[in-house]
Amino acid sequence: MKFATLSEILEQLKNENHYWQIGFYGLVAAAAIHFFFLLLFTFLDIPLLAAVNIVSVGLYLYCIFVLGVPTLQSKDDHLIGWLVYGELIGHNLLATWLLGRESGFQFYLYIPALLPFFILSYSRLIYFLRLLFVIALALWVETSPLFNHPRVPIDPLWLQRFNWMNLLIFLLILSILAYLYALKEHAYSRRLIHDLSRDPLTGLFNRRILDEILKKSQGDSARLGVLLLDVDYFKKINDTFGHEGGDYVLKQLAAKLKTLCPRATILRWGGEEFLILLADTDKETLQRRAEQIRQAVESSTLFFDGKRLDFTVTLGATLFALKSENFRDALVRADKALYEGKKSGRNRAIFYDIQSAPLKKGEERSSSS
Ligand code: GH3
Ligand code: MG
Ligand code: MG
Repeated sequence: MKFATLSEILEQLKNENHYWQIGFYGLVAAAAIHFFFLLLFTFLDIPLLAAVNIVSVGLYLYCIFVLGVPTLQSKDDHLIGWLVYGELIGHNLLATWLLGRESGFQFYLYIPALLPFFILSYSRLIYFLRLLFVIALALWVETSPLFNHPRVPIDPLWLQRFNWMNLLIFLLILSILAYLYALKEHAYSRRLIHDLSRDPLTGLFNRRILDEILKKSQGDSARLGVLLLDVDYFKKINDTFGHEGGDYVLKQLAAKLKTLCPRATILRWGGEEFLILLADTDKETLQRRAEQIRQAVESSTLFFDGKRLDFTVTLGATLFALKSENFRDALVRADKALYEGKKSGRNRAIFYDIQSAPLKKGEERSSSS
């Protein structure tokens, strides 16, 4: 049996999936609630229920410090799920039997119906059967004369207090669980959307985000500067420095582009090809910017594996008239400018004006990626 310290658990919890993060704090809350009842039943001199609460506190601590040690592999959510389910039913059935329905302990019997949201390892059949069992059990407890009266001596005033206390705790658990679930679900889908629109290597946007960016640009810019950048002889870099060397170049280049064009939207368009979109720009500014990027890359030197790594880029630049053309046309124009730059020796920045490159169907070069 391996115990973990609280600080170890909290540290590892940060890397856990969000269901277990909620589950973990649920277990802590359950242990705390049972500790509170342990004190209360000791005070009221009902030793049987005090003892049951000791067992429950022990069970939840066992789940937290032994079963739940969140080292990803060792965590046994399945067993935790069954123990929590059994504890909730056994404990509250016994408490309702001893104190009667008026005490309100039967409310907690409904909680197991919610737990499958947080523990995904159940099969659907088991979830359904457990749900049916909980509903049948709750109906039985609500109607059976077995639970009509308390079996231990207790002040009726205390029964009333238990009733509202249990109702309150039950409703709190219900609403907190629902809130946490919604919160985590929201954060999760946001992260998913974020990850979907990013290139994992460079952290730049990927193609998926383009439509959204174009829609946004429509409002605040009449002319969008389009720069298509391609690393020269990238295959050679891969051949000389290995794939990792190539990846290193891409990462460094992405970082450089971000510093050079802090306000631009930069996408990793393909393998070693980047698309830079500059809002509200004009021909001169765009040309200057393209040339500036070209020179900045040319004059900088990287070191990989202790070896000097020089490289250059070629850029195709054009303006995209948002109101009067299709983005695809501008892209084809930038691609043609890039192609011309490659043809004329690479390490170039070529600008194509809207009129200067009439497009013919099927003329575009396919993206090299
Ligand atoms: P050019 O100057 O004409 O652009 O030549 P090039 O060698 O740069 O272009 P080419 O399109 O022939 O080769 C691109 C290479 O980029 C081929 C592919 O293996 C490599 N590549 C694509 N994606 C990645 C990546 O994510 N990492 C690395 N390291 N290489 C990649
Ligand atoms: Mg290339
Ligand atoms: Mg290419």
